Amino acid sequence: MADITKEILKNLPEGKISDVNFEGANIVLYTKERDFFLNNNGVIKRIVDNIKKRVELRPDPSITMDMEEAEKIIRSLIPEEAGIEMVIFDPQRSRVIVEAEKPGLAIGKQGAILREIRTQTLWVPLVRRKPAIRSKLIENIRAVLYQHSDYRRKFLDKVGHRIYDGWRREKKNEWIRLTYLGSGRQVGRSCIFLQTPESRVLLDCGINVASDDKPYPYLDAPEFDINELDAVILSHAHIDHCGFIPYLFKFGYRGPVYCTEPTRDVAALLLLDYIKIQRADGTDPIFTSEEIKEMVKHTITLEYDEVSDVTPDVRITMYNAGHILGSAMVHMHVGNGLHNILYSGDQKYGKTLLLEPAVTMFPRLETLMLEATYGGKENIMPHRQETDEELMKIIKDTVERNGKVLIPTLGVGRAQEVMLAIEAMIREGRMAPVPVYIDGMVWDVTAIHTAYPEYLNNSIRKLIFHKDQNPFLHEVFKRVGSPKERNDVIENTGACVIIATSGMLTGGPSVEYLKHLSDNPKNSMGFVNYQGEGSMGRRIQQGEREFTFSDGGKQEMLQIKMQVHTVDGFSGHSSRNQLMNFVAKCEPRPKKVIVNHGENSRCLDLASSIHKGFRVETVAPRNLETVRVK
Ligand SMILES: [Zn+2]
Repeated sequence: MADITKEILKNLPEGKISDVNFEGANIVLYTKERDFFLNNNGVIKRIVDNIKKRVELRPDPSITMDMEEAEKIIRSLIPEEAGIEMVIFDPQRSRVIVEAEKPGLAIGKQGAILREIRTQTLWVPLVRRKPAIRSKLIENIRAVLYQHSDYRRKFLDKVGHRIYDGWRREKKNEWIRLTYLGSGRQVGRSCIFLQTPESRVLLDCGINVASDDKPYPYLDAPEFDINELDAVILSHAHIDHCGFIPYLFKFGYRGPVYCTEPTRDVAALLLLDYIKIQRADGTDPIFTSEEIKEMVKHTITLEYDEVSDVTPDVRITMYNAGHILGSAMVHMHVGNGLHNILYSGDQKYGKTLLLEPAVTMFPRLETLMLEATYGGKENIMPHRQETDEELMKIIKDTVERNGKVLIPTLGVGRAQEVMLAIEAMIREGRMAPVPVYIDGMVWDVTAIHTAYPEYLNNSIRKLIFHKDQNPFLHEVFKRVGSPKERNDVIENTGACVIIATSGMLTGGPSVEYLKHLSDNPKNSMGFVNYQGEGSMGRRIQQGEREFTFSDGGKQEMLQIKMQVHTVDGFSGHSSRNQLMNFVAKCEPRPKKVIVNHGENSRCLDLASSIHKGFRVETVAPRNLETVRVK
């Protein structure tokens, strides 16, 4: 028995607890006594205050009400307006999950309905939001977790033992080192290895999609051993941050992946899409949907600001990064007060239509690992309003000459930002309605946004919650779900806007559209996100106008005669100024800044400017370099 369990049981009246289990860092107690479950006079709360860990008391599965009976009671207690769809029981953990369109109504005033359900059925109810746009993917993910609830219970308990059973290695020295297995002076394949005398943790594990040359992180570095890996922490769902995680599972990793709930869902979707694109290109994907499923099974989701131990000497907290839905900056409290590190992941310190700006207040902070995608002096971004106007002008001009606007985007982030911008132009009467075709994956990601409005910014939340005016449900948005429908958009429709992946024209529907729209000067293309070095998007941006393609074996010529625009201000990354402002506003001010996730010159430029501007130590490590922070 772990020491922490003994400590808890010592503080409880004897014989009340039938079982103790870990669910990751959370400690779950089970009781067979109805009265103790319903009213323990604050005993549990006192324990929580004492040990500063999450402790939950649940009824022992043997005393929960028969499921059929319980479902009847639950459905009678929750008002019809809440729109309950599914009621799913998790008998191993005495929990019942209620899916509702309006979770607030199902919970009741100050949780009154939930309390009533507990009292009458002895089940622990959890209310989940049913997405406003139906999402097959979310349904599948929830089904996978449900089908494997027995496995999950054992897995989460094992993770808890790793955290609480004490040190495995000798507790002799104190040191912390960060090794760059990717994203050192480059954008793509983010992967940083954190080591302490006790812990081995990966921060992100991505693929460089813009490069065929060296796409994967350096897992062959001498310090890395997959068999010793304790945890993977994922900042957000973009492939350059999560794309290699299923590969870890292919090679036997069975530990936890920590991220937010939307990140888990969006990552699964992008990974499935990634292997689909690879197959369509005639390459054999390096992993399959089986390994993506393994990843989902081993994911532990955390909310923003929720503190969680991940090993005996690393405790993490995720903070809003303002980059895409669910994106997080990861705060690591290492060695019980020894050192505090913030890994920014990708971040935006500026408000967007979709998200709040990145957080700047932390309990403690000594080392900041900061991204530098737009860290160069030249990376000045136009004001958001100018950006909007620029896009509106491109759309209006193109529509006027009866052309089509192609906007290649990453499926998540920029796509939704552009949708919101267009919806606002139309809602506010600044532009006449124009059909906006949303190609498959972008639509699915948008559906996931409607499942997690809590992660969106205040104004959008207000629109969704209070006015029932979900902007994503505006009638101008039309889903393109199949190659046939795609063809219809190309051949049979007039002026329109098309939003499609991939964002850098490295494959997927955006390339299909490009092949058909590029030779007509009436059409236009608007780049709204970062174009990786070597990608087709970057080459077009730089002025290349002729490309050869192999299409099913035969060579085809592609001529770009459509208008090409770059609209910068939609970026989900901080501009150079926003990065400098972020460091200025960081509280407390870090003593050391490690600059990563940027092209060589931008990393160096940002590092030197931060050093000069704030008198703090800076470093821009290359791949395979290690920075010792303590
Ligand atoms: Zn990103």
